Amino acid sequence: MADTLPISEAFLSLQGEGKLTGVPSWFIRLSGCNLRCSWCDTPYASWNPEGDKQSIADIVRAAVYSGARHAVVTGGEPMIFKRLYPLCQQLNDAGMHITIETAGTVFRTPFCHLMSISPKLSNSTPHNDPRDPDGGWAKCHERRRLNLCDLPKILIRYPNHQLKFVVTSEADLAEIDALLAEIEKSVRLDPADIMLMPEGATTPDPESIRWVVDLCLARGWRLCWRLHAQLFGDTRGT
Ligand code: SF4
Repeated sequence: MADTLPISEAFLSLQGEGKLTGVPSWFIRLSGCNLRCSWCDTPYASWNPEGDKQSIADIVRAAVYSGARHAVVTGGEPMIFKRLYPLCQQLNDAGMHITIETAGTVFRTPFCHLMSISPKLSNSTPHNDPRDPDGGWAKCHERRRLNLCDLPKILIRYPNHQLKFVVTSEADLAEIDALLAEIEKSVRLDPADIMLMPEGATTPDPESIRWVVDLCLARGWRLCWRLHAQLFGDTRGT
């Protein structure tokens, strides 16, 4: 069908991450992803995409009926779908504030108010993952996870952006610094738009992420909390 998109779930919750943390939002999770992160917290939209195709008119109608003023278009990877353009256009026509959550590997230019980009570090690659017995996805993921040609273009095209890095250990810092240096050849970044998000489906012990706190204090970056995980645990629809 021409005007449909695969939806794994849609629900009302509080935005749990980033600049709009705590804002009541209608989440539209598109099903399907061009990556396979080892720690993906929505495998039902990536490793095993679930859900049905729904018409864009129905998706927008449900968003409006939710009563939320904010819509978060997430995944999976929303940017792999060309029909993101009419979806975002119609959400905007309905007066909603739109956040797109992406890994930043695909350059498309649908309308949104906030572009939330989470470039994937090497800690995301699914080495020896039982879901990938022949290692095909590990190779593919490693090849795709950073698009240094398009990432700066996305940041320039969407000046209201945030860059969220999922971190697992202090060893990630060198990788982040190298990536930021590469990006800053093309676009100047505001440290307040750079966020470090400790990996994990549950709320981390403050002592275990002391190094992240210290890094944010030293660099002027933000600590990105997962409010939804703290409030609702590792459950779908939150
Ligand atoms: S990019 Fe996002 S949805 Fe896709 S595998 Fe990684 S964490 Fe999951």
